[in-house]
Amino acid sequence: MTTRLKHIYGPVPSRRLGLSLGVDLVPYKTCNFDCIYCQLGRTNRKTIERKRYVPAEEILGNLFEALKHVPKPDFITLAGSGEPVLNSDIGIIIRSIKKQTDCPVAVLTNASLLGDQEVREELLAADVILPSLDAADSATFRAINRPHDALDVEDIIQGMINFRKKFHGAIWLEIFLVEGINTADSPMKSLKLAIDKIRPDKTQLNTAVRPPAESFVKPVGDNTMQRIRCFLGSNCEVIVPSTDIPREKARIISEEALLAVLSRRPCTLADLSKGLHASPNHVLKTIAALQKKGLIRSYFQNRELFYSRVFPD
Ligand code: SF4
Repeated sequence: MTTRLKHIYGPVPSRRLGLSLGVDLVPYKTCNFDCIYCQLGRTNRKTIERKRYVPAEEILGNLFEALKHVPKPDFITLAGSGEPVLNSDIGIIIRSIKKQTDCPVAVLTNASLLGDQEVREELLAADVILPSLDAADSATFRAINRPHDALDVEDIIQGMINFRKKFHGAIWLEIFLVEGINTADSPMKSLKLAIDKIRPDKTQLNTAVRPPAESFVKPVGDNTMQRIRCFLGSNCEVIVPSTDIPREKARIISEEALLAVLSRRPCTLADLSKGLHASPNHVLKTIAALQKKGLIRSYFQNRELFYSRVFPD
């Protein structure tokens, strides 16, 4: 990617979004949270002001130029180095992408502004929303997300419930787990009650695998992760690699093996990972290589991303 396209990154392989082309809607670390686990470091100036941090024309110009030069992504993902919904042009940007491409659009958000009806309306045109919710009680919310004083976790949860009622796309809710901060029974029970009301299509568990803003942040181990996954129910999955790295390293997926599976039926990344007994990261590498060769394609259907074999005419 040339430096001129400064608002675009990737495409990068993503466990949740396949081959994802990232679009950054706000300047570095423009956020209304200061999460203790943030990989970008601390938020020096929290803001809840929505404005045209980068105008839609500039973002879309970068994006459409990038799409001429990169392999077709599975998703165009609005995210980046802060909270993308703070950009007040986000609605225009989503609708323009939907009008001018056939790529599904995903939005990564901390969900803090979903209490605002205007924001909810702007996000309706997206295909997938990936909101975060790390805590449902005020004390834990403040400890882990260190939000702007004007934000209230109950309003955020109610905003997510309201959004679910109107939104026809997929909601994949992410919970970032920090050992000893939001992993105890009491915050987890509050979180489960909130999730049951929000009714996301999936709940996805993450933890600190990259250096966090605060050195005291510790990732949760496999046992805690599995205990919480079971507690949260059947639509909950873990999206970080197992700590059993050596076993994962050994598994390379051949293009032939993957094509053989996809010749029989379309599969999600999770299906392929399970069927081929390999980590999603390894499967994604082979998927990217086959997509480049035009041997497989992706499509978003029934709120899931599928891969299928492309057969020559
Ligand atoms: S919401 Fe995202 S960008 Fe903002 S502080 Fe938290 S992790 Fe960092």
